[in-house]
This record gives sequence, C-alpha cells and structure tokens, in this order.
Amino acid sequence: MGNEEIEIVECSVCGAMGVLDQTMSLNIEGKPVCYFCQNPSEATKGYWIFASRKKGKYPKPTPRSGKWLIFVNVKDIDELWAKIKKATEEGKLGAEAKVSTAKPKPADIGYKKDEHVICIYTHDSTDEKDVKRIREELRKLGITNKIPYKADEDTGKGRYAARGHKRISKYYE
Ligand SMILES: [Zn+2]
Repeated sequence: MGNEEIEIVECSVCGAMGVLDQTMSLNIEGKPVCYFCQNPSEATKGYWIFASRKKGKYPKPTPRSGKWLIFVNVKDIDELWAKIKKATEEGKLGAEAKVSTAKPKPADIGYKKDEHVICIYTHDSTDEKDVKRIREELRKLGITNKIPYKADEDTGKGRYAARGHKRISKYYE
C-alpha cells in the first residue's frame, strides 16, 4: 500500500536521468528518452519540443524577432527535426528552434492532421543578413522548397492578407 515503484532511467540520446513515465518515456525501439530527445511524432506530453544553442554566441531577441517556418508531413518529421536540433545545438542557426509534437491540438488553430511545424527563431527580422544566413543553413540541411518567415509581431496580431486568407510572410524563399 502506497508502495509506488518508480524507475529511474537514463536518456539513451543525451544521458539525462529521470523517472520513467514522468520526464522520461520509451521510444518506439523501447529505449528510454527524455522529453527533449523524443521524436516529435511520438511525443504527447506538451505541444512543443525545444532545442537550444550550445555552442557559440548569438544576439538576444529584440522586439522584432521572428522565425522561419517549415511544415512537414509526419512521415518526415523525426528525421528532419533530428537535423534541425543538431544544427541548433551546434550553433549553426539561431538561439532556439521548436517542433510541434503529436499531442492533439485544439481544432480551431488550423493545423492539418499529420502535419508538424518547425520554427527556427532569429533574433531580429530586420537583420536580413542573419535571417538569410540561417535560411542558407536550412538549405544545406535539405530544405530547398520555399518556406515562409514571419516576424513575431505579425503572429500576435493575426494579420491576414486581403484575399485568400494567406498570412503575411516577411520573407518567402
Ligand atoms: Zn535526452
């Protein structure tokens, strides 16, 4: 009675320790992984998984910060996120990136089923050199189709173009 068993496990990716079924879970291969190392297609605890820069310096976000957005089918998301996570941690992109998980979203926010989104943040949408440098790095990771860049201030206001309900992108390349 009251004798709850907990199992401390080590993340098979990054080595972090945690309690199984709390901060840790088993991946599709049965190996323990921490929340941050989970595959987006399998993660259901939160709506997002974040990755942060671990090498080099990057400017703090200004009020004009923004992000590149990549919409990805579930069948490709785990592989692509692994690349983006690695590039973010190695200091090749901005300070932070995030990916949507498999946790079901409220229906009204317009996500397509089976689609994930990756956001790659940049410190300032008017720092065109930095925005384009990061776009180039994403191209090197295989993202060669056109992707939108949105300034965060636009996101909050939910601005729409006059026709077609297309959200305004600051860049699209
Ligand atoms: Zn981990």
